[in-house]
Amino acid sequence: MIIDGKQAAADLRVALAHEVTALKESKGITPSLTVVLIGEDPASQVYVRNKAKKTREVGMISNEIRLPAETSQAALLSQLSLLNNDVSVHGILVQLPLPNHIDESVVIGAINPEKDVDGFHAMNSGRLLNGETGALVPCTPQGCIILAKQHLGEDLSGKHAVVIGRSNIVGKPVALLLLQENCTVTIAHSRTKNLPAICQQADILVAAVGRANFVQGDWVKKGATVIDVGINRIEADPIEGNSFEGKAAGKAKLVGDVDFDAVSQVCGAITPVPGGVGPMTIACLLKNTFEAAKLHG
Ligand code: NAP
Repeated sequence: MIIDGKQAAADLRVALAHEVTALKESKGITPSLTVVLIGEDPASQVYVRNKAKKTREVGMISNEIRLPAETSQAALLSQLSLLNNDVSVHGILVQLPLPNHIDESVVIGAINPEKDVDGFHAMNSGRLLNGETGALVPCTPQGCIILAKQHLGEDLSGKHAVVIGRSNIVGKPVALLLLQENCTVTIAHSRTKNLPAICQQADILVAAVGRANFVQGDWVKKGATVIDVGINRIEADPIEGNSFEGKAAGKAKLVGDVDFDAVSQVCGAITPVPGGVGPMTIACLLKNTFEAAKLHG
């Protein structure tokens, strides 16, 4: 089974659009998201444009604040303070990565946790760690759980989940969410020994490594559910039609952290790249914005 993240994201957006309409009618609140973009990074510009389009499509208000790359940290913090105090703004997202002269953790810490729709503020990570309700949970990890449930159903209790990667934005929060779902969770990282043997135990395998085609077919248990978070740009070989890293010729294409061709022969279900976890990330961002507006709007 190929888990269709595009369809799951579209379904989530349809459900959200209904909820947005209901919130407008019942409370007169239209959820609004403000994205702050510093600098001219082309990939970030594409992400921000996409977020704005999808935000409007579900009936929410989308605002963008574009600041030059040389904006000082102090100026950015002043801008965030204005947004924090603006009651018409329910969600604030500062597009990462930031220019080198700005400290990411200071900026994330300056966002009102109730408007932190990326879910990266320490208050939200702490709430997630404590299993408290009301946390804004990072978007990509939320998407991973929704996609795993597409194959396994709502109850993930007792499944052995192996997460490769321990970043604050993917690996750790997805591991905590799986724990909340009563999975037995193993977190692997670059110092993990015998990684293939650990992966072979997984009923649910989440790969968030950032290395193209890293997870091999013989690392995966028959019938496992594989969630591939990776987004890696590689060059396509124009002659063979194959793709491989490090060659300048040919057109770039996106692949995940999992060797899709090999793993899809063994696993029970797998998310493709593109079209798997990626589309869920924006859909969950919209969900977080809606939740922020509902709770605090
Ligand atoms: P990251 O911060 O670079 O973390 C990568 C993790 O992988 C680290 O914990 C690292 O271990 C581990 N790792 C690296 N090499 C390894 C190895 N040989 N064996 C085992 N573990 C290894 O990356 P990230 O931000 O979590 O992102 C991971 C991937 O997901 C990237 O491809 C990124 O583009 C993608 N991503 C996709 C979405 C989406 O919307 N689909 C969103 C976010 C990220 P150490 O901690 O020991 O260094």
